[in-house]
Amino acid sequence: MAFVVAVFATSQRRHVAEQTLQRAGHTYLVFGDAATAVAEVADGTADLLIVDGRVPGLSVAQVCEAMDAQPATADIPIVVCDPVVPGGRRVVSTQLTPAALETTVAAALAAGAGAVRDRVLLVEDDDAIAEPLIDGLARYGIRVDRVSTGAAALAAPPAALVLLDLGLPDMDGLQVCRELRSAHDVPVIMLTARGDETDRVVGLELGADDYLAKPFSVRELVARIRAVGRRTYAGRIA
Ligand code: CA
Repeated sequence: MAFVVAVFATSQRRHVAEQTLQRAGHTYLVFGDAATAVAEVADGTADLLIVDGRVPGLSVAQVCEAMDAQPATADIPIVVCDPVVPGGRRVVSTQLTPAALETTVAAALAAGAGAVRDRVLLVEDDDAIAEPLIDGLARYGIRVDRVSTGAAALAAPPAALVLLDLGLPDMDGLQVCRELRSAHDVPVIMLTARGDETDRVVGLELGADDYLAKPFSVRELVARIRAVGRRTYAGRIA
């Protein structure tokens, strides 16, 4: 399941896309104008943008430019429905038939952030933080396995992405980060109550991919997870 934003001008074309996305089990929002759709994607939680090649207002090229202009959207895959346009580095074209659209959407998602969706490991000893986080991420379709200690994190099966609390009961989180990275080269997002600049710098030097200081919103974390997932797995089939 992914979260897809789409822009279609006519109800007939919109209907084809909605039926296809529904059948594939995706969550979606369909807009009638491109600027609103791009703004929704920029909110940070969409996995994919579908643009009707015939939409009024912004041209497909302008939509791609608008997506490229912001870090939050620059690496989100774009599927363009006919007429077929020349593909860019992450733009793929498809005809607007259910079969063609479904195949193209699945391939675009597999090459992007969808790769981490079911394989996130949360390392957090505090139930009061972990439990709402697990519930919150589930609402975005992200399933999390959780452990409470550094030792359990190092013994866990390899994940596609690790959310790592730095304040753990048994080991220094930075040491866990170092060992996780050397064992599996897995992307790591550090979570910490300590607003300590030194931790952040050391963690990033150890190979952590990003850093969030508590308290943070689930939405903010989802945006980071997707960005790190895309950077790590874009172009790879997971
Ligand atoms: Ca802790």
